[in-house]
Amino acid sequence: MTVVLETRRLQRNFGAFMATNDVSLQIEQGARHALIGPNGAGKTTFINLLAGVRPVSSGQIFLEGKDITTLPSHVRVKKGLTRTFQINQLFADYTPLETVTLAMLEREGVGGSLWSKVTGHGALVDEAAALLSRFRLAAVMDERTDRLPYGKQRLLEIALAFAAKPRVLLLDEPAAGVPEDERHEVLQIVSDLPSGVTVVLIEHDMDLVFSFASRISVLVAGAIFAEGTVQEIAANPGVRAVYLGE
Ligand code: ADP
Repeated sequence: MTVVLETRRLQRNFGAFMATNDVSLQIEQGARHALIGPNGAGKTTFINLLAGVRPVSSGQIFLEGKDITTLPSHVRVKKGLTRTFQINQLFADYTPLETVTLAMLEREGVGGSLWSKVTGHGALVDEAAALLSRFRLAAVMDERTDRLPYGKQRLLEIALAFAAKPRVLLLDEPAAGVPEDERHEVLQIVSDLPSGVTVVLIEHDMDLVFSFASRISVLVAGAIFAEGTVQEIAANPGVRAVYLGE
């Protein structure tokens, strides 16, 4: 197996509380890797350590074999490790097409004022439109972002992260708050991303996890409690006891 992302004995404490406790994990290239566990298990903290949003207390993180433990998050993005962020209010009166084009200009390191930047970069606008089609946002790409239905805003957040051309995409409950009948679609779109893109996903809806994941890690009290394929995790009596409440 080709390992794209690896943690070794990763720890993060808040005071005396160990939110990430000695996590050693290998994520396979191209995986659809789900992180599950009860509330407060440390899933978001772990993703934030991977993304560089929070510093680690100890341990190491490797991206494609290189130690990235102390790199700031924007440098990790340039190296291909990206997480989603909530759409900033600043983007409220931009359209999805403008927002994604801006993200691509940023990726290409193009400076200057907004529309002066686009001059001479029409190919990026085409690329942005194609990307929005992939996320089923073509029909709304010229509407104001803050007027989009919530589910479409969540898809735009993922589209924005994808615009950075990530090798590894970190998603923290991308379908949270999305109406029930649209949640599957969000996960399907993520699942259908090119196989070269590895996805690490936090999701608490087990139906979604089981239909999405190629591999599952179960976190309990900051530590890896179990790991395996969907079939292995679904059949694991310990997981059923601590997580599924059976
Ligand atoms: P999960 O995503 O699995 O619900 P979190 O990573 O959000 O879990 O939180 C894990 C634990 O770490 C929780 O008990 C939470 O209260 C604690 N925690 C998270 N962030 C902080 C923080 N900034 N300061 C103190 N405790 C925190």
